[in-house]
Amino acid sequence: MARGQDPPGTRAARRRPKRSLGQNFLVDPNLQRKIAGAVLAGEDEPVLEIGPGRGALTAHLVERGVRLTVVELDDELAAELATRYETEPRVTVVHGDVLSLELASPGGDWGRTTVVGNIPYNITTPIIFRLLQLPYPRDIVLTVQAEVAARILAGPGTRTYGALSVGVGLHARASRICKVPRSAFRPIPRVDSVAMRITPHSPPRLTRSAAARVRVLTRAAFSWRRKQLGTILARHPDLNCPRDLIEGVLTELGLVPTLRPERLSPDDFMALAAALRTASFSL
Ligand code: SAM
Repeated sequence: MARGQDPPGTRAARRRPKRSLGQNFLVDPNLQRKIAGAVLAGEDEPVLEIGPGRGALTAHLVERGVRLTVVELDDELAAELATRYETEPRVTVVHGDVLSLELASPGGDWGRTTVVGNIPYNITTPIIFRLLQLPYPRDIVLTVQAEVAARILAGPGTRTYGALSVGVGLHARASRICKVPRSAFRPIPRVDSVAMRITPHSPPRLTRSAAARVRVLTRAAFSWRRKQLGTILARHPDLNCPRDLIEGVLTELGLVPTLRPERLSPDDFMALAAALRTASFSL
């Protein structure tokens, strides 16, 4: 029996997966091993697993002896995991919503933590943005919808490049680990997935406040992605930048006002936000 499939007769095996919680369980043993193997933490090093479900990845991580905290929102699955691992001193089961947990407790070892999760599709973006807030964890291994992975991995000038590509690129280096076909899950979802690694920059390249400013700029730019940069800066209601200032700032950065936002790299957005601030324009 593959991990992630509960023993016949257990409560978890009898209950129906909850679609509202994005419950598609990974049942392919090779992919379970491969994704858990992408977590580079060694014995006693901290790992946070988001949405362990029936424990498809958890079992491999426990075997490796990492210091594991799992966060599961589903009442019954959290209770079953707590029972399964009650005698494992290195495993802590947290019953709760990962989006409302304090991840980086002061004095904790968040900076050394690897985060792993085969996460629900509907909360993928909020989870990623949450994980890429300062302070960062050490490394992140996530299985996400293939279409989301394509947007994260896209480079400037491509059709799928957008706010998500820039939002991740500002904080981390992203790479693809492997494709996870829909047939690897039960129940079978409507889309394929991709396992990916997102390694936050160390040291970070942005302060918290600088990151917030680039975010305002990026969101505005991609909400008007068909418009030219000069127009966006001057007319977008979240920006309203004085025209005389725009020209000077763009020239200094070697950017032309007719560029469309999808041509700007994460570094360009970062430099533009910094230059606007230097020119006394507050984002
Ligand atoms: N990791 C398991 C696997 O690969 O088989 C389960 C993956 S399933 C796609 C997502 C899991 O995340 C489910 O167990 C679901 O109950 C849990 N979940 C959903 N929303 C959550 C949240 N906000 N916080 C923590 N866990 C959540």
